[in-house]
Amino acid sequence: MRSTPYWLDTAPAFQSGADQPVEGRFDVAVIGAGFTGLSTALRLARQGVSVLVLDAGPVIGEASGRNGGQCNTGLAHDYAKIIQTHGRDTAMRFHQAYSAAVADVERLVIDENIDCDFRRCGKLKLAAKPRHYENLAAAHRLMNDGFDAKTELFDAARVRDEIGSAAFHGALLMPDAAQLHVGRFGVGIAEAAARHGATIHENTPLLALDRHTLGFELRTPTGRAVAEQVVLATGTSRVGPLGWFRRRIVPVGSFILVTAPLPASTLDTLLPARRNYVTSRVIGHYFRVTSDRRLLFGGRARFSMSDARADRKAGAVLRHNLCHLFPSLAETAIDYCWGGLVDMSRDRLPRAGSDRGLHYAMGYSGHGVQMSVYMGGVIAERVTGEADRNPWAGLNWPAIPGHFGTPWFLPAVGAWYQLKDRFR
Ligand SMILES: Cc1cc2nc3c(=O)[nH]c(=O)nc-3n(C[C@H](O)[C@H](O)[C@H](O)COP(=O)(O)OP(=O)(O)OC[C@H]3O[C@@H](n4cnc5c(N)ncnc54)[C@H](O)[C@@H]3O)c2cc1C
Repeated sequence: MRSTPYWLDTAPAFQSGADQPVEGRFDVAVIGAGFTGLSTALRLARQGVSVLVLDAGPVIGEASGRNGGQCNTGLAHDYAKIIQTHGRDTAMRFHQAYSAAVADVERLVIDENIDCDFRRCGKLKLAAKPRHYENLAAAHRLMNDGFDAKTELFDAARVRDEIGSAAFHGALLMPDAAQLHVGRFGVGIAEAAARHGATIHENTPLLALDRHTLGFELRTPTGRAVAEQVVLATGTSRVGPLGWFRRRIVPVGSFILVTAPLPASTLDTLLPARRNYVTSRVIGHYFRVTSDRRLLFGGRARFSMSDARADRKAGAVLRHNLCHLFPSLAETAIDYCWGGLVDMSRDRLPRAGSDRGLHYAMGYSGHGVQMSVYMGGVIAERVTGEADRNPWAGLNWPAIPGHFGTPWFLPAVGAWYQLKDRFR
């Protein structure tokens, strides 16, 4: 069993990294070569802006290359609660941003001709309890009524046509959701950014960032550079001068298994429509089929950070849960198991903003494949002064009390969520 993410193992290597030391003057420095940073760099480089990209590790080495490959429309939140907290207009703005974000990924795939199996497959949210089905029915009414979401509600009998598991009591379909090979997509946008002129340094952490007469001075282990503006696209960053963000973002481990390729006949019985699937529990699961017919099965599994030991333990929990949902897969070999860190904000909404030439976008809270790409475009427009389309403008972002970067409180949060799953 491999601990490399399936997506990275089955994508071409990024070929266009810079090999000289960091030096020079740039219009913009982007810190982080995940989807947020690469999407920002690509849009800017296309317009002839000189862009320096620094990543502490390899391109898409963190969440962007380690996720479930679901590119879903809609908020992951309870819409009634979002309306109650933010009002209907703001909730609508948030909702529309996710639809625009999926369309933005699709456009980028076409414009840059990226071979990454992008497909509008629909997302099915599966009710793990009868009461969850009632909640999905309420969400269906609310979303179709006020948000024109065109969701479809499937009862327990209809859901049997969608999934070969007896574990579910109904489901809600979001028809416009998509899926893609995130490894090939990520390398594709990195190569496109480099082709358009961006200088991308892998394995080059930003160590210090200071204001400078020409904008900002950036210090790295291999040299210094100056940039007029800086974009922080650093997710759950654990290195560099980003303490302000570390007090606001909680890194939470999420874990994934990928089976050996399955016979088409087995998949036709278990998941005939090959959609994106998520379950309704607080500590739920997400899964989908890859284009080479493997089942990718993920979930929070354990409330911990991701490291080799935690990933192995989480893998055992995931395997058990996979067999519970699909007993016919009990003997199936598992080829991959890995973990990654999700950049959770306290209210699970992203944050993005600017302060005198310093821009940031992060906090996608496990729902960021589409939004990170979209926010790259939003930030690029902000940098060039074209427009300010930030859907998250105006959200306040206080530090999380008692949190300084290492989430010591995760086991307690996990215990609380388990309790909620038992009684909810
Ligand atoms: C296991 C898992 C499953 C997920 N599944 C899904 C899913 O199915 N659908 C979905 O929509 N979302 C999913 N997500 C979330 C999604 O992957 C992220 O929201 C998205 O990839 C965030 O992209 P990013 O570019 O902002 O961050 P990242 O991809 O984390 O990139 C940040 C980059 O910044 C770099 N960096 C940090 N500090 C520094 C520094 N000081 N100097 C230089 N570089 C630095 C890091 O090395 C990293 O490469 C999942 C996440 C995980 C972990």
